[in-house]
Amino acid sequence: FSVVFSPIHEPSGGDAFALVVFDDITDRLAVARMRSDFVANASHELRTPLASLTGFIETLLGPARNDPAVAERFLRIMLEQANRMRRLLDDLLSLSRLEMRVHRRPTESVDVVTALRHVVDALAPVAERYGVEVTLDLPDRPVAVRGEPDELVQVFQNLVENAIKYGASGKKVAIKAERICADGGRDQVRVRVRDHGPGIAAEHIPRLTERFYRVDVGASRELQGTGLGLAIVKHILTRHRGTLAIESELGRGSEFTVLLPAVVAEVENANKPNSL
Ligand code: ADP
Repeated sequence: FSVVFSPIHEPSGGDAFALVVFDDITDRLAVARMRSDFVANASHELRTPLASLTGFIETLLGPARNDPAVAERFLRIMLEQANRMRRLLDDLLSLSRLEMRVHRRPTESVDVVTALRHVVDALAPVAERYGVEVTLDLPDRPVAVRGEPDELVQVFQNLVENAIKYGASGKKVAIKAERICADGGRDQVRVRVRDHGPGIAAEHIPRLTERFYRVDVGASRELQGTGLGLAIVKHILTRHRGTLAIESELGRGSEFTVLLPAVVAEVENANKPNSL
């Protein structure tokens, strides 16, 4: 609590009053703490590759100066570290852009089927590298949601890429999209991304969408993770009035389910001039 105490004196010199304002600042303190944790985490994540770059540069300028084989090996590691810093900065920028847009509702009509096809095509080289077969089970007609096309592509891209990378041992990733009728409510679009990898222990699941939360930091780094992917997914879905559900069983794999409000078909058609 913050307490502000203001004495109020009657000009006549009569009774004196006091105005006491109690203000519950628990939420504000929590937000301030989250912000400073975030800055500390982000700085730490950036400092690690930077320290490694500095170390390699010093070695290249000193002992390894005249050894082309060592120099080549070090330069490759340096390139990897620089790429890691770039990925981190890209993700940090995405998050800050999303925070700025948080009060603006997305207005475009986005076809989830097209977005998923695009994501699977773009990730084909990654799937090949990890030896994973990605299957798509899609409705034959477009299913529209109200959204920001780039952001929705990013949601599916992060989920499918995670399924490929973390679930690689299961060899198969299955994506299914469908429009589901809600009882008395608004129709929804459901997208499920399923892998047959090692799965995630129950205690980690509620924390996966926290910034920088990783089950195994070493494995995530090895797989070029930043720990921000699912935080970005959650942010985007909230902005789109969507949800993310995570189900997982150790040794059997994981399923990430996205639900988004569907665009009402009748309204869509009515808006088209030639449907009159
Ligand atoms: P990262 O950049 O580390 O991949 P994410 O926010 O995308 O960060 O994911 C957070 C963590 O959740 C990952 O580090 C990983 O430990 C775990 N994770 C995400 N998806 C899966 C999955 N399909 N199978 C197993 N673990 C997963």
